Amino acid sequence: MIEQAPVANSKTFDAAVVGVGPMGLTTGLLLARNGFSVAVIGPDISSTETRTTALLQGTVNLLSNIGVWDGLSEASEPLAVMRIIDDTKRLIRAPEVAFRAEEIGNDAFGYNVPVAHLIDVLRRTAQANERLTLIDGTVDTLDDNGETVRIALASGALVEARVAIGADGRNSVCRAAARIGVNEQAYPQSALALNLRHTRPHDNVSTEFHRENGPMVLVPLPGLHSSIVLVDNPDRIAALLDMPDEALGAEITRLSHGILGKITVDGPSRGYPLVRMTAKELAKGRIALVGEAAHVMPPIGAQGLNLGIRDAAVLAEKLSTPDTVRNDADRALSAYQRARRTDIGTRIAAVDLLNRSLLSGFLGLQGARALGLYAIKGVGPLRRLMMREGMEPSLASASILRAP
Ligand SMILES: Cc1cc2nc3c(=O)[nH]c(=O)nc-3n(C[C@H](O)[C@H](O)[C@H](O)COP(=O)(O)OP(=O)(O)OC[C@H]3O[C@@H](n4cnc5c(N)ncnc54)[C@H](O)[C@@H]3O)c2cc1C
Repeated sequence: MIEQAPVANSKTFDAAVVGVGPMGLTTGLLLARNGFSVAVIGPDISSTETRTTALLQGTVNLLSNIGVWDGLSEASEPLAVMRIIDDTKRLIRAPEVAFRAEEIGNDAFGYNVPVAHLIDVLRRTAQANERLTLIDGTVDTLDDNGETVRIALASGALVEARVAIGADGRNSVCRAAARIGVNEQAYPQSALALNLRHTRPHDNVSTEFHRENGPMVLVPLPGLHSSIVLVDNPDRIAALLDMPDEALGAEITRLSHGILGKITVDGPSRGYPLVRMTAKELAKGRIALVGEAAHVMPPIGAQGLNLGIRDAAVLAEKLSTPDTVRNDADRALSAYQRARRTDIGTRIAAVDLLNRSLLSGFLGLQGARALGLYAIKGVGPLRRLMMREGMEPSLASASILRAP
């Protein structure tokens, strides 16, 4: 069901989700599946998204379980091999390491998909769900009175719900309304993201070059297409963004050592400052946070969106049924907070450590990275453990993340 604001304030929803990005729509669909009446509020942004995202196996399982994956599989490309190449000029360099999904009995680690397409399919599934009301508008304020949350839209409309879920991204209005503080740190780096065409096939291999100022990763898309995320210092990223498409394509061909043949730019490029942010709490009163409202990390290792999907899965499992939010919302939200701390903390720490080991001139840290990759390359059980943990972390135990 889709509604335009203003919405009459006559109904109290079991839950209201603020944000119509991947996390907001997924959370809304999961709660509707549990029998909740749910409002999902936000402006339609799908047309502005040009990024792609690598969906790991747990996320693919969840999307299959809520009936979304069938609409995505054609536009996505399997990632069968993940290769890491040390492209630094450092004294201690790591060996080339390739992880193959077949080693752990899978066809792929995950699938690369355009974010606009993901949002579009989630949105169409949400529109068709009769328990879910999509409300087009921007939220101004939230007022949590301990029993319900009253959500005021910029249009003047009001929505009331027993719990509110902030899926409203890194500058979350929900987080501010709940007075939840953040720990935040900026890195001396930015990321450039764009889509590419190339003359050689990618053979479903995702290649990550470790470079002195940050990684550069090429991720397969259907046909002779890939996406790239290139991390470097902000001046270098600004210079790349200023280049005409032809020069940028030639530069990426050079940086990738020709592994995909001649590369040309396929669509707009965008720069992203690199930050690390974690909310000090994931829930306070009747307001909970998921996705980038709760945590932001550098786009390294395809973790951010997958981590947010695990938030949504665990939150829906803890909120369980409409009766739980009527009778026991505080306990369910505390349980959500407890269940998510370790997974979020360890993922952010791992991405931070990898990034720092590349930036650091300290030989000890460079050596530890090289040694880690030697161990992973040489020790089969360790490599298989890493691959399984990367695909479906044992710390995220929501049943909806398992294969249907
Ligand atoms: C270059 C790059 C590459 C990436 N690649 C990957 C990858 O391969 N794999 C991966 O797992 N992650 C990846 N990530 C991370 C991933 O993109 C994010 O984790 C994900 O997009 C966050 O989704 P979200 O729904 O939490 O937030 P957002 O996508 O920011 O959505 C927030 C939504 O809230 C809405 N909103 C904001 N304020 C309001 C308001 N006041 N009222 C109503 N609505 C509001 C916005 O309009 C938007 O719809 C990448 C990130 C970057 C920068």
